[in-house]
Amino acid sequence: MEKIDVLFSEEMITKRVKELANEFYLKYHDEEVVFVCTLKGAVFFACDLLKNYRGDARLEFLRVSSYEGESSTGKINLKLPLKAENIHGKHVIIIEDIVDTGYTLEYITKYVNDMKPKSMITCTLLDKKARRVVDINPDYSGFVVDDLFVIGYGLDYDQKYRNLPYVGVVVKE
Ligand code: 5GP
Repeated sequence: MEKIDVLFSEEMITKRVKELANEFYLKYHDEEVVFVCTLKGAVFFACDLLKNYRGDARLEFLRVSSYEGESSTGKINLKLPLKAENIHGKHVIIIEDIVDTGYTLEYITKYVNDMKPKSMITCTLLDKKARRVVDINPDYSGFVVDDLFVIGYGLDYDQKYRNLPYVGVVVKE
């Protein structure tokens, strides 16, 4: 395997996930929440958030794609849709892996909003603020990250590296 520089360690991620799960619990306490996990990148983040969430929660999956290799195409394809009955009238938290240009988050928030949830907020593990093209910001984020192509903890490079327990960058020799 290539050399990888760790940006956010497993310990840092675990601590931040607990903080976010607690913030969500304080927000919703006895009301049921639907965590919408965007596949595949947010899968570990969403599951860890859910494991640390003390209230009533459901889990749904959505899959869109926009990236090829290391760059966003800007054109979003819906690969796995949500069922409207699982969203309509519910409190929804959209869980993303990383917000880069913002095209994907813009697409997903519009898509979910059209299903008329009771409320909707967005949470991303990583926010690559400097690369934003669309005027959209996640409501919650784990960490702000510089303009680097990151991998690990669900994030891939051509489907590799998702299984790393930390977030890092591949060191190019
Ligand atoms: P956006 O539509 O905001 O440009 O891109 C969002 C999607 O692009 C993310 O959900 C993620 O799948 C992918 N992406 C953006 N930046 C990175 C990155 O640094 N590493 C990886 N692995 N994927 C990224």
